[in-house]
Amino acid sequence: MKFYQKSKEELLHSYDVKIDRGLSSTQVTDNRERYGENKLPEEKEESYLKVFFKSFKEPIIIVLLGAVALSFFSSFYSFQIVGDKKHGLESLYEAIAIAILIIINAFLGFWQEISARKNLNSLKEMNNRFASVLRDGALEKISSNELVVGDIVKVTVGDFVEADIRWLELDELQLIESHLTGEADAIIKNIEVINENVEIGDQTNMGFSGSIVSNGQGIGIVVATGENTELGKISQLMKDEGIKSSPLQETVKKLTKTLMKISAGIVLLTFVFGLISSGEFSINSITSVFSTSIALAVASIPDALPVVLSIVLTIGAVKMSKNKGLIKTLSSVETLGSTSYICSDKTGTLTQNEMTVTKFYANGQLYNVDGLGYSSIGEIHLIAKGEKNINFAQFMKNIVLCNDSSVKEVEGQVKTFGNPTEVALTVLGSKAGYSKNKLLKNNKIIRTLPFSSSRKMMSVIVQNDEGFYVYTKGAPDVLMEKASGILIGDIVDQSEQSKDNFIKVVDDYADEALRTLAVAYKKVDEEEALYGATEDVEKDFILTGVAGIIDPPREEVKESIRQLHDANINVVMITGDHEKTARAIAYDLGIVKEKNATVLKGIDLEEMSDQKLYAEVKNVNVYARVTPEHKQRIVKQLQNHQQVVAMTGDGVNDAPALRAADIGVAMGITGTEVTKDSADLILLDDKFTTIEKSVYSGRTIYANIKNFMRHELTTNVAEVLALVLGLVLFRSSVGNVAAMTPTLTALMVLWVNMVSDAIPSFSLGYDVAETDLMKEKPRNPNESILANHTWSRVLIRGTVMGTMVYLGFLLAAQNGLNASEAQTVAFLTLVYGQLWHVFDARSSRTLFRRNPFGNIRLVGAVLFAGVSSFLVTIIPFFNSVMGTAQLTLPVYLLVIFIPALPTLILSGIKEVFKIKIW
Ligand code: ATP
Repeated sequence: MKFYQKSKEELLHSYDVKIDRGLSSTQVTDNRERYGENKLPEEKEESYLKVFFKSFKEPIIIVLLGAVALSFFSSFYSFQIVGDKKHGLESLYEAIAIAILIIINAFLGFWQEISARKNLNSLKEMNNRFASVLRDGALEKISSNELVVGDIVKVTVGDFVEADIRWLELDELQLIESHLTGEADAIIKNIEVINENVEIGDQTNMGFSGSIVSNGQGIGIVVATGENTELGKISQLMKDEGIKSSPLQETVKKLTKTLMKISAGIVLLTFVFGLISSGEFSINSITSVFSTSIALAVASIPDALPVVLSIVLTIGAVKMSKNKGLIKTLSSVETLGSTSYICSDKTGTLTQNEMTVTKFYANGQLYNVDGLGYSSIGEIHLIAKGEKNINFAQFMKNIVLCNDSSVKEVEGQVKTFGNPTEVALTVLGSKAGYSKNKLLKNNKIIRTLPFSSSRKMMSVIVQNDEGFYVYTKGAPDVLMEKASGILIGDIVDQSEQSKDNFIKVVDDYADEALRTLAVAYKKVDEEEALYGATEDVEKDFILTGVAGIIDPPREEVKESIRQLHDANINVVMITGDHEKTARAIAYDLGIVKEKNATVLKGIDLEEMSDQKLYAEVKNVNVYARVTPEHKQRIVKQLQNHQQVVAMTGDGVNDAPALRAADIGVAMGITGTEVTKDSADLILLDDKFTTIEKSVYSGRTIYANIKNFMRHELTTNVAEVLALVLGLVLFRSSVGNVAAMTPTLTALMVLWVNMVSDAIPSFSLGYDVAETDLMKEKPRNPNESILANHTWSRVLIRGTVMGTMVYLGFLLAAQNGLNASEAQTVAFLTLVYGQLWHVFDARSSRTLFRRNPFGNIRLVGAVLFAGVSSFLVTIIPFFNSVMGTAQLTLPVYLLVIFIPALPTLILSGIKEVFKIKIW
């Protein structure tokens, strides 16, 4: 017999579980062992060995391997055939050194990939989905893969169904099962036993893993988990997208490819030119010219770029998650930096979501309530002139019964469960002496129409001695529209006067930034009570009163908004709340500057055409009484203005808007699983400030990437130029240096790329932000990372540095230094030139604008690179491997300090004349 053919009792009995207690912890362990975990088999991770050898497939490495082979061949040839020991040894050293570099590179790549994998896994873990389950009598939230067969699960709007479930108790539950059936519309569920054999789409008493709860709520028993679910059967392997590469990574890949092509051209030219100039066509000279030119060309490619880039991006994502902003794709790190609009919900994000009813209006009388927070101690005062009787029984009964929250005292601490608005009402009820448990003795809730942001209300249908009643609470303006009278004293008043009074109370509360919630009731017959459609049940109300709820703004948000405004980022409040409440809170937080700022209401938005909204959208900072559907239109029109939009959302209907936004933001604590699934950024602490911090991190990371790209590319231009100048100009011997001696040896160039260039570049990725980063305008997302005169800066500095290296070499030769010494002068000029330049590269403006000690990691890297590059010129082993030579003290001093001049002068000119392209 299939699960949908079994009765509720049979199922509960077969798993030995009670609907109001759930499984015990021993049963959970047993069932997990017997039926398996709620996990789909994961794709196998690549083995460590495979990861290690991955780098050997990179074109750069293949070329370098070719160079190693050629050097070995050349060495063999020199030893065995020509008998030239010196040249043979040189080629051998070269081959070994390049091989070592290849291995180091493979280790670096390996380390990068493994640490990125670790980081990504930890990010993924934080992004686990949750399910509400009843165990040992208590409702708890557990990670969805801890569910076991037999668990009693509760779902509500916005949840995913996390396993296959047979429903036991339902309130208007509707599920979207399109992932299994292709049917896009929501399916209404029930709990009736089905006797015949039916397909998945017709199993109306079942819920299947991966479905979305689009309406209502339900309790059910898990009947299949993991691979045994319908989803598990069709997708034996769930494709895990992991973290996709970012556009910047793609750009860098393309750039590296272009540079490789250029360097291939250089190889060819150097080779032909070298051969013609040497005038010798022996195998020996061919292999030596060839291996040198290949090694040089490869060394001139910024091969560290992709590695450093992906490390910086992943580390950025991990850092953000420590600051409570969980990023789901690396591209979001980039996009965050260019965000120009942040559209945020109000409740809980901009406000504290710790609600207290401070005022209410019931049966025509106004009351004040003492006490903040969740304690049930607090007096209720009637504000009335003259003698009047307290009369709020109907109001209190309504707010307590039409309410899913509870407040309990556990070990002296007040614990609240459920939606804060409802908690506030439960607390008010207990201040007045009304509790749900007591009321349930004479009243039976036979149906619940759960709250939805689109209807903006919630109702329960209650049966008592007098018959059937609908008790509703919701947005006052919405309930007013559907009301036929107002309860004044004990009489239903239908006069305009009482309606106006009611509206005035709502307006007054809203002006004080109070959240307002009206309550209403009506009597219905049994037929309507049991089967009436929601639209029919929720009309012709009698309004009982209205509650004014304080939800204080979060203090820290004011500062965040100020900073975002400084950073030219617009902040927009989009709320389901009342227009006046929204305006008052927006003014308090500084989102709008005037007390009577424009507020666009959902109802007006509805009537606006897209063109009209396009014209208005940049003038509006507060939207009130909107439904989630409106959010998508707002995002679209802002995007039509070329704005990069971050949008928050927490309800199931917010998912499309989050997907449409450039950065969809979901709440980690109160958000629904569906919104978390479609978001790019999850606020682990639900705080608005976290969005601001994430934007700041996004900007910092982008700026750092730009800095190290600038540095890397400048070095590459300098190296290529120094070598090409030598090749073209050094045609006859000078002093003791023979004609055609290259400015730098291949190993010197490799050293520069792997040590004195890569290490400081890497630390640039960790740099702190230039202080005024949040004073700049958001970046244009379509603009290349090399735009804004980056190329001109790279070319100017690279040309000056390259020329200086060649001149150093030439001057050394003219002053009688031998070939190795002259090459060492060129080598150190290049190294120290770069090390000075790195302090310039780290500012978007000039060297003089940043404290050089602001990034200690960088200072350490520069010292390490400087000292080790000096050491390779004095240690004999390196002398013979790299072709370096020891210099005299004055020459050392010259090569350390003279290369500072171009950087100081170029930066100085920029500082004084404010030349942008410089
Ligand atoms: P935001 O959109 O900024 O989170 P919000 O909570 O006011 O603000 P919604 O959740 O869409 O937005 O609620 C809209 C309105 O519905 C509220 O202003 C309130 O009047 C009413 N409301 C909120 N929660 C409930 C509830 N649990 N039951 C009945 N009505 C509610």
